[in-house]
Amino acid sequence: MNIHEYQSKEILKEYGVPVLNGLIVFSAEEAKKKAELIKSDIVVVKAQIHAGGRGKAGGVILAKSLDEIVEATDKLIGKPLVTHQTSPEGQIVRKVYIEEGCNIESEFYLSLIVNRKKSCFTFIASPAGGMDIEEVAKTSPEDIIYVDIDPSVGLKAYHVYRIANFLNLDKKALKVILEGVYSCFTDKDISLLEINPLVLTKEAKLVALDAKMGFDDNALYRHPDILEYKDESEEDKEETKAIKHGLAYVKLDGNIGCLVNGAGLAMATMDAIHLAGGAPANFLDVGGSASVEMVSTGFEILLSNPKVVGIFVNIFGGIMKCDTIAEGVVKAANDMDIKVPIVVRLQGANAEIGLEILSKSDINVMLAEDMDDGAEKIVSLVGNKEATNEHLGR
Ligand code: GDP
Ligand code: MN
Repeated sequence: MNIHEYQSKEILKEYGVPVLNGLIVFSAEEAKKKAELIKSDIVVVKAQIHAGGRGKAGGVILAKSLDEIVEATDKLIGKPLVTHQTSPEGQIVRKVYIEEGCNIESEFYLSLIVNRKKSCFTFIASPAGGMDIEEVAKTSPEDIIYVDIDPSVGLKAYHVYRIANFLNLDKKALKVILEGVYSCFTDKDISLLEINPLVLTKEAKLVALDAKMGFDDNALYRHPDILEYKDESEEDKEETKAIKHGLAYVKLDGNIGCLVNGAGLAMATMDAIHLAGGAPANFLDVGGSASVEMVSTGFEILLSNPKVVGIFVNIFGGIMKCDTIAEGVVKAANDMDIKVPIVVRLQGANAEIGLEILSKSDINVMLAEDMDDGAEKIVSLVGNKEATNEHLGR
């Protein structure tokens, strides 16, 4: 789960990381009423969406008067902002953050991540701040330092020294920031915390000018305070619906919808589709205890993706009974007008009953012998058909 910049800054502030004063508004009228609370000659109006690259896309506007603040707010709110991290349609701006301005001397990059390869946390820092860090990594990798932190040891003075020396920053000031970032990262089960830019002001203060946090979804149950920050309007609608119904769904770039039970089988199914020359549109694991309703909801989610031109249902019955899946498929076909071909492979518990349910119904499904046969069948049925062009090249 991701949260907004202003929310991340609220958390950072609690942990002693210096941020500038700001307030959130939902309309130009609200901006007009409240903006004077920000005592600063220059104010920055920032679109709050769950995507970076706002600066370059016109989502960060400097304002020098109340009129300019209101104008900037009006310009941003209610309209889509297209950045290199959003879809081509952009993300609708629903609120803006009005923040004190500052005099920037230099901009730095700082982030803390969970390093799965090395089983540790890693600070990433660079004097090339305010830019796309992936770009810096490509063009001048020598400008980036990676400092691994063993979680059983924690953040120590020598970590701070290494980063401060690399960035040529004051150790005491940077220590406050690194300690705040590290504590909040570990306390709140964050998986990515990024400050880009961290700025040194002309008054020689270090300030987090931007902030981004991503949380480990599996740990959210122990952070009700973080869950309060959830903004559903920023999340993928299909993924939100899937979570509500207890389905594990991840959207992908291909055009063959997959409905599978078990994460391992779902991965294998995606491989089989690739091997047969196709591309999966999603990962969907209905799990071991799915109901008929869950299966038909799964179909709804698959079909709400306009790219999907065919569906492959691949089930290995165990705890999950094949007849439940078959009933779910029949229910989905009756409830919805499914225009795309469906290939079903049922094997294992109650497979015969499931196959009978399918053959007795008048829905149009093609049966497959096994996973590879199913993958080949669905790929040959959909061919190289592209549902729409708009998602190409993303
Ligand atoms: P992002 O583009 O979505 O990452 O948004 P940022 O919050 O990083 O803002 C983009 C850029 O706007 C920063 O790198 C700064 O150069 C600039 N900016 C943001 N706040 C201020 C400010 O208070 N004063 C000045 N002069 N520039 C700012
Ligand atoms: Mn930024």
